Amino acid sequence: MEVLYRSTRGNGSTVTASNAILKGLSEDGGLFVPDQIPALEVPMEQLAQMSYQEVAYEVMSRFLTDFTEEELKKCIQSAYDQKFDTDVIAPLVKADGAYYLELFHGSTIAFKDMALSILPYLLTTAAKKNGVTNDIVILTATSGDTGKAAMAGFADVPGTKIIVFYPKDGVSPIQEKQMVTQKGDNTYVVAIRGNFDDAQTGVKKIFNDSEMKAELADAGYQFSSANSINIGRLVPQIVYYVYAYANLYKTGQIQPGEEINVVVPTGNFGNILAAYYAKNMGLPIKKLICASNDNKVLFDFFTTGTYDRNREFILTTSPSMDILISSNLERLIYRIAGNDPEKNKVLMEELTKDGAYHITDEMKAQLADFYGNYATEEETAETIRKIYKDCGYVIDTHTSVAATVYGKYTKETGDTAKTVIASTASPYKFTRSVMEAIDEGKYASMGDFELIDQLSEISGVAVPNAIEEIRNAEVRHNTVAEVAEMPAVVKNILGIK
Ligand SMILES: *Cc1c(COP(=O)(O)O)cnc(C)c1O
Repeated sequence: MEVLYRSTRGNGSTVTASNAILKGLSEDGGLFVPDQIPALEVPMEQLAQMSYQEVAYEVMSRFLTDFTEEELKKCIQSAYDQKFDTDVIAPLVKADGAYYLELFHGSTIAFKDMALSILPYLLTTAAKKNGVTNDIVILTATSGDTGKAAMAGFADVPGTKIIVFYPKDGVSPIQEKQMVTQKGDNTYVVAIRGNFDDAQTGVKKIFNDSEMKAELADAGYQFSSANSINIGRLVPQIVYYVYAYANLYKTGQIQPGEEINVVVPTGNFGNILAAYYAKNMGLPIKKLICASNDNKVLFDFFTTGTYDRNREFILTTSPSMDILISSNLERLIYRIAGNDPEKNKVLMEELTKDGAYHITDEMKAQLADFYGNYATEEETAETIRKIYKDCGYVIDTHTSVAATVYGKYTKETGDTAKTVIASTASPYKFTRSVMEAIDEGKYASMGDFELIDQLSEISGVAVPNAIEEIRNAEVRHNTVAEVAEMPAVVKNILGIK
């Protein structure tokens, strides 16, 4: 059955999957959502025998229905290959009473690789299918991980350019070094004086600027997005929840049909929305546990029904979750508003105007699948230390936010259902915070790369390639700009007067 996509703020008109991927964001400022969530339909016995790539095909082909089998399989084979340091792509590690789904075995060692290693293939295939002759300019705002993963995916891909904006003081030293050393003649990195929300809002504004769109078209360019507002990011993220479940089934850790919980450290609400879509496809998921750091706007939302970004933006040790405007929540709001674009639009306009909105009790009642909580900085560090001491397993700060919230959830509810925790980054990406959590006195005075070697020693995990690569890499990008200058920076890069 064909799945079409419509905007969360639109008039009901639909586009094909490949068109939704090409556009990134709808012209009316809304996000594309599938007009139905397809059923998974493949028996678990079968999924359990499949490779990651095979599961990816089963899941993605149900959403991206205008891609041919040959096209989609080619995209999948090109994406999930030797770039990952393990054949299983997303291993499941049992530790401390939960299953850690390690989503950081790709080329930039964060979970963004799971979708961004395939997005360039989906996008260039979509361009070909739709007869696009313009070069595609990928505009990306990043809280640290998307930018690098998107550049790694798009570097030197013919017919594309990629421009990444990141908050100057809002990313980890390793994240920054990974970005500013990025190779490729079509990659551009710009630090902005502002936070992630400023970067994301700036990018959305450029997308909705019709004058700029026309200027770009004249110069032979069109924009698309590598942020999780692009449906081409979201669909590949559904795959690993199905794969994880199939893995638990295959290894006899769960019975047929047994419900599991999923815990996701959340920022822009993309990863957890993918888990929600997996549940709606029929995957037996009990609770979707949404974990926030001190920027706990989502916890407050799930508790009170009020989304309120009017608060201090806090820089934490889990910078990829330092976000107050969770873009993908709009897709959930649209759904619990009865797929009503008008109702959704009113709320999103209130968010833009007043920085807050309130949902009705009727809408709130539909959020029963979700549980929200948050972890403070101290709790996050304590959990890293405890799991290391008890199990010898080292997790990163973002994953620790999730593990901490899972602890709060079981304490509150007594729920003993098997639980998968999305492990979204390698501890090597946030080495300083991780090592100082383990033993501040011992590690605080050491340099970044000294800490990396120490981490390897205590964890027994070899230093990943992504880190070795940047040890002595040359800095290639050093542009810093004000938020207001973002459109000018883009024009300058593209040589538009
Ligand atoms: C991006 C990111 C997150 C947040 O994911 P969302 O899909 O934005 O909710 C969590 N952890 C890490 C390491 C990330 O890079």
